[in-house]
Parts: sequence; C-alpha cells; structure tokens
Amino acid sequence: MLKKLVILFCLILFVCTGCGKKEETVNDLETILGRGSLIVGVKTDTYPFGYTNAKGDYLGYDVELAKLIAKGLLGDENKVKFVPVSAYDRIMKLESNDVDMIIATMSVTPQRQEILDFSTSYYTAGQALLVKKGSKIRSIKDLKDKRVIIVFGSTSERSIREAVVNVGIIGYKTYTEAYKALKQGKGEAIVADDTILYGLAYKDKDVVLLPKRYSKEPYAVAFRKGKESKQLIKAVNEIIETEARNGTLKKIQKDLGIKG
Ligand code: GLU
Repeated sequence: MLKKLVILFCLILFVCTGCGKKEETVNDLETILGRGSLIVGVKTDTYPFGYTNAKGDYLGYDVELAKLIAKGLLGDENKVKFVPVSAYDRIMKLESNDVDMIIATMSVTPQRQEILDFSTSYYTAGQALLVKKGSKIRSIKDLKDKRVIIVFGSTSERSIREAVVNVGIIGYKTYTEAYKALKQGKGEAIVADDTILYGLAYKDKDVVLLPKRYSKEPYAVAFRKGKESKQLIKAVNEIIETEARNGTLKKIQKDLGIKG
C-alpha cells in the first residue's frame, strides 16, 4: 500500500512539474519561419503609404517595406499576407494575433511604447492641416471655437485636444470618411499627418494642405510588447538598416512621390 502511495505521489509530482522539463515558448520569429509566411497589417486608404487598386492589390511605401521584410526573413518578397487595418483597430489586430506586425503610418510615441514595441524608424512625417480652398483657417490657432476633423486612434486626436482649447472634435474611423466630412463642410479642417493629407489632396484642387507642420511623427513597424518579439525586432531592424543604407527605401519614396 505504502509503495503504491509513493508511486502515486511521484506520478503527481512528475505531471505537476511538466514532466521535469519546462516547455520552451516559441518566439514570434520562429512562428513566422515555421509558417513560411509573414502576416502584416497595412492601411488600404492611405495613399501613398498603404492603399489598394481596383484589382485589390496592396500598394504603397508600407507595403513595399513589408515585402522587403518578407524577403529578408523568408527569402521571397511574395511570402507576405496583408490584413487591412485602420488607425482605429490596428493595435487590437496586433494584440489579438491577427497579424505579426503593423506597418501602417504608425508613429512611435511614449504612450504607445508602454504597450507596444517598435522597430527603428523608416520615415518621419509631421502633423498638418487640410482645409477647403478659400478657408480663413491659416494655422492651428484659428481652430478655436471651430469644428475640426480627426481619425480615431491617430496621434492628432490627442494633439489637437492638447493644442487648442474650445475646439469641437469630430472623429471618424477612416481617412476616407474624414475627407468626405471636410468636403461636406462638417468641420473646418482635418488635422493629420502631412503624408496622409497629401494623399487626399493631390488630385483635388478644392482642398489645400497648409504649409506649417506641428509635430514630428517617426513611423516605425509595431510589434506586440515582450520577449517573444525581441528576435523578430532585431531581424526587422537589420533589414530596415540595410535597405536604408543601400538606398532602396529612398528609391521607394521617390517612386511614390514621397518627399525625403
Ligand atoms: N502617424 C499617426 C499615427 O500613428 C497618424 C497616422 C494614422 O492615423 O495612421 O497615429
């Protein structure tokens, strides 16, 4: 009986300690290599960074960077699957493991660094104002007591609240909706990154991108925070640094009309 009890005790101990061996957690880089493809969250309405054409192809600087990362990690730029994200839902899609990383005009900020990890920066934008032609708005100060349009989850949502007192803020989930609202006169201006506003304005003579910039927005690839991301971030940083050094990133920017 005692012998049986000792055996039972040993068995319980064995099971409870995980068969004497701790299970190794697979890190994000190993997951991608094992899967043989990369899953990246990109924008679909943010020309010239992340957008789609009529055939549904993903295009833009962020998309090209994702392809370079797929090539660097997996040896083939086509081994990447794109998942559409917006400023509003991109962090949720990363946290829920829908994507391995986000490349979506996303700025590094101290608040975001609390919950996410970032690569080195691959571009710097700046916040600006887009207004209708003939508007009396010349700078952010003129927005006092006016209504201004932002996109939820963007850095401008926060900065406009800090920069202007007594401003009415109208928020949308996408830049397409924000642009439509400006055209319909629902607000006096859109506050957003110059890169994105340029993409909205370049074909439209009835809107004006004002020259002043109000912030520095360092764009970087975003990852889930934690040690599972460490090796992946290291590998991605090496790819970004190599492609910056050899001039590929500058060439992509130039081809897309993005100023350096
Ligand atoms: N770069 C800004 C941000 O990360 C605005 C761009 C965007 O809304 O995606 O919030």
